[in-house]
Amino acid sequence: MNTLFWDRETETLTRPRLEQLQLARLQETVRRAALRVPFYQRALAEIGLKPDEVRSLADVQRLPLTTSDDLRSQYPAGLLAVPPDEPVRLHTSSGTTGKPKAIFFSKKDIDNAGELMARSLVATGVTRQDVFQNMMSYGLFTGGLMMHYGAEKIGCLVIPSGPGNSERQLMLMQDFGTTAAHILPSYALYFAGFLEQRGVDARRDLAWRKAFVGAEPYTEETREKIQQALGLKVFNSYGLTEMNGPGVAFECSHQCGMHLWEDHFLLEILDPKTGAPLPEGQCGELVLTTLQREAMPILRYRTRDITRLLPGPCPCGRTHRRVDRITGRSDDMLIVRGVNIFPQQIERVLMAHPQIGRNYVIVLEGLDDLTVQVELAPAAFDGNVEHVADLQHQLTEKLKAELWVRPTVNLVPAGSMPVAEGKARRVIDKRSL
Ligand SMILES: [Zn+2]
Repeated sequence: MNTLFWDRETETLTRPRLEQLQLARLQETVRRAALRVPFYQRALAEIGLKPDEVRSLADVQRLPLTTSDDLRSQYPAGLLAVPPDEPVRLHTSSGTTGKPKAIFFSKKDIDNAGELMARSLVATGVTRQDVFQNMMSYGLFTGGLMMHYGAEKIGCLVIPSGPGNSERQLMLMQDFGTTAAHILPSYALYFAGFLEQRGVDARRDLAWRKAFVGAEPYTEETREKIQQALGLKVFNSYGLTEMNGPGVAFECSHQCGMHLWEDHFLLEILDPKTGAPLPEGQCGELVLTTLQREAMPILRYRTRDITRLLPGPCPCGRTHRRVDRITGRSDDMLIVRGVNIFPQQIERVLMAHPQIGRNYVIVLEGLDDLTVQVELAPAAFDGNVEHVADLQHQLTEKLKAELWVRPTVNLVPAGSMPVAEGKARRVIDKRSL
């Protein structure tokens, strides 16, 4: 596979060089935060840490964490590190309640965000020959605009179609030969159905070959469904408004985990309960420190997103480490026999099995007994009890390998468990009762 690069030098820096760069930028970031942002000035003074005491990358662990509530408490402009007339853009990240988080960008910050998007898209194989239809909303949400800038930087023809209006989307696709699109996963599935109704075979009638989906959680199964239905490749990506928006981490053409752009973000994977750093391969909360933010540097931001570092080098040659797809939120974490477990890890194992249905529940009781009750797929039961026992055994072993805790697996007939209206309750924890 011929690997394309947007910024080959930076993307393939040796680890020692990359870490040297990170340290210099971390020191500068802490200095600026301490000097210009009263919130960080206070937080650093409280723990008695002076910026010049940051001497190695490991010293990041001495810095204070920043939470989403901190960002809200500093609303509207408490975290600004530049004079108030310097930012050129405001984006917000919505919360479920109360005031949003306000994120400011300088000219340079916007340019950097576009740069990272260009880097990300090129890593998936996008070139200036591509016609890029941006079917995402533009506005306070960063996704639409930042993706737009990235594609434009590469030299693609960008069609800012925004979301919805499937008739018009299809017309644009056909008339201008769209080859790549940015789209919500739920809309991609809907759009696939719409094409089918119109008698349009995406593989035969459209030039569309790549999709970038995001802004809402989706499973690996959904990705596969979109790929199959539209005959294209879907690339996983990770971003959040607090850290520029999309393009914090992106899959390359090998689709084996997302390279997190470490020259812009210093990453840590922490145990969400204790804050202790976790070794490669273990799931924990992703914590990010901005390394090049001008208007609004953020130290050790608790994203609440759960992921893990993937081991080994990527065949593409990029040296920036890869994180796994986000498997959940830190709030969902369960502790079973001293091990951190996320319900999504269990779901991933179950859903990878074609004989397993979609309805399942995780029950915790007694002294940390973990039971996974799951329905068989409608056509899976052939009347042979031995086959069920065999499947049960396989699932138990797979779950144990994933979780490091042996569960009891209960397979029940399709349709025998209650169907949830709205969001299903997946965890029943009877331990504290
Ligand atoms: Zn790669």
